Amino acid sequence: MEGWSCVGRVDAGCGVGFDVAGVRAQTAGVGERVHLNSAGAALMPDPVVEEMVAHLRLEARVGGYEAAESAAARMEGFYSSVARLLGAHPQEVAFVESATRAWELALGSVPLKAGDRILTTVSEYSSNGMGLVKAAGAVGARVEVVADDGEGVVDVGALEQALEEGGVVLVAINHMPTHNGLVNPVERVGRACRAHGVLFLVDACQSVGQVQVDVERVGCDFLTATGRKFLRGPRGTGLLYAREGAGVGEPAVVDVSSAEWVGPDAYRVRGDARRFESFERSVAGQLGLAVAADYACALGMGAVAERVGWLGEVLRERLSVLEGVRVWDRGRVGERSGIVTFSVRGVGAEWVRAFLAREGVNVSVSRVHNQVWEYEGLPEQVVRASVHYYNTEEELAVLVDALARRVGA
Ligand SMILES: *Cc1c(COP(=O)(O)O)cnc(C)c1O
Repeated sequence: MEGWSCVGRVDAGCGVGFDVAGVRAQTAGVGERVHLNSAGAALMPDPVVEEMVAHLRLEARVGGYEAAESAAARMEGFYSSVARLLGAHPQEVAFVESATRAWELALGSVPLKAGDRILTTVSEYSSNGMGLVKAAGAVGARVEVVADDGEGVVDVGALEQALEEGGVVLVAINHMPTHNGLVNPVERVGRACRAHGVLFLVDACQSVGQVQVDVERVGCDFLTATGRKFLRGPRGTGLLYAREGAGVGEPAVVDVSSAEWVGPDAYRVRGDARRFESFERSVAGQLGLAVAADYACALGMGAVAERVGWLGEVLRERLSVLEGVRVWDRGRVGERSGIVTFSVRGVGAEWVRAFLAREGVNVSVSRVHNQVWEYEGLPEQVVRASVHYYNTEEELAVLVDALARRVGA
């Protein structure tokens, strides 16, 4: 793990002072391909991979339990690393295998009854949407989709009005959707929730590791994220922030690590966020995710956000002047994420993805069924190119030039 905290901090400006060479030198994958799929799974930095491989080798040599014992201090360090990244307390952090699991666990602890109202957004991830419909349907609660404002972000005025009407027990929204460059104003939503004493669950899957996410400033009761996206952690890892004193119920599942068996028909659930964890887990994954969180902190999330946002705008601009290419991102200009979605006239998104793959560029395809409530005006599939701070303008040019050749042909 030595050698990476020296990655340079950054000057102010449009992401230009960032030590791009330094981070690229620690990212094996950048030599292979132009990776523009960090919203799918980013390239892990070498220190994350080294930490995990070393632990797996130790497990092979001494045994899984024995290896975990010798890694106990670093396992414990995971909670303070993530807490530092999010402005939380270590006891408010849980390690979970994915963002969806984390989100479902949070939702499952919210006491819901018939007639309760849950508010969400148009741009919500479909797994969340289905989870809400399922949970509400089981008790006769109602899911209500708050309208967007003209720029595509959640209309906070409409949300406040819905809160005024009463009966809302939970507001569940994404910070950044999976298929769009927009950024939802989660801090304003958080203030509205607090003013009305309503629980607030934030899906920060695309924003943790991309921009500064501070749970105090967001004012949420729960926040979820995955390891593999902008945080550059391993696959199969995720995290849950659960605010201390949020006043929610028990987790939907308990086991020997989240609860204690205290009698023939009694058990006691842990008081901290680890009540949401499973005993069994990828120890290497948890250690790797801790390193990824430290890595992000060492770079400084302000500098990371600035560079990613800037690269995203550069890509949008270059794509939007190409004849036959349409950029679909919504959101306020100057406040958009590193997720860029577009379509190319006359060819499907899947065709574009395969074409770019042959050109050595990784992008992905966003399908309408990945988000439940936003159909209007969108094509069935769009191409998603997502930038991270380790990408360069030259790499963006590889994508743009390849498309220009294709469109010009
Ligand atoms: C990827 C994604 C998820 C799901 O994350 P998993 O780790 O795959 O469960 C949830 N919400 C958004 C906005 C996402 O982009």
